[in-house]
Amino acid sequence: MDEISLDKRIDLHMHSLFSDGELLPSELARRAHVLDHDTIAITDHIDSSNIETIPNLIGAIEDINDNWDINVLPGAEITHAPVEVISKLADRARNLGAKIVVVHGETLAEPVIKGTNFVAVECGDVDILAHPGLITEEEVEIAKKNNVTLEISGRRGHSLSNGHVAKIGVEVGADLIVDTDSHSPDDLITFQEAKLIGLGAGLAEKEVMKALVDNPKKIIKRRK
Ligand SMILES: [Zn+2]
Ligand SMILES: [Zn+2]
Repeated sequence: MDEISLDKRIDLHMHSLFSDGELLPSELARRAHVLDHDTIAITDHIDSSNIETIPNLIGAIEDINDNWDINVLPGAEITHAPVEVISKLADRARNLGAKIVVVHGETLAEPVIKGTNFVAVECGDVDILAHPGLITEEEVEIAKKNNVTLEISGRRGHSLSNGHVAKIGVEVGADLIVDTDSHSPDDLITFQEAKLIGLGAGLAEKEVMKALVDNPKKIIKRRK
């Protein structure tokens, strides 16, 4: 992945019709390609009820990866699952072929079960803790130790705590990533827009570039 130029976008948190997104994986990939994305991960919402759909998603993106100049990674976002089963679901998702495992964190915009952030950072199978709300310093320390990347969200509502996540992430030295959590065509953004979201969260330019380029590449390399 070393050939990625600085203006190629990588977005590792997006939804398709496999859950509550509006677009087929191919439509999502097509729009991402036009907006100059190098790589996207399709991370549809899962829990025990639909985790077995991951192989279908993998089948759905094979044609895209074979024929188009964009990398589409199969993933999953463990969403509103009881905290007791999150690590089991992460392990299962991984075994079913998910390359990018996201956990739907304790956003300020929804009543996510308390303790979700903690088990997500503790579990070695999770790559990204999405929209982690008012994540604690202790949890950020654990995320750093376990290579769990914390999300700066482009999504309305989830983005309310971006400033807090950016500040505590930089203080502790945990990895950050700017993802859109796209559900609709209008949610996709360019590299430049992602940069503004990082700056708007209070990150310095150098930290923004790490969040847009180095950190997503690190996750992809780890899970290849
Ligand atoms: Zn989410
Ligand atoms: Zn999401």
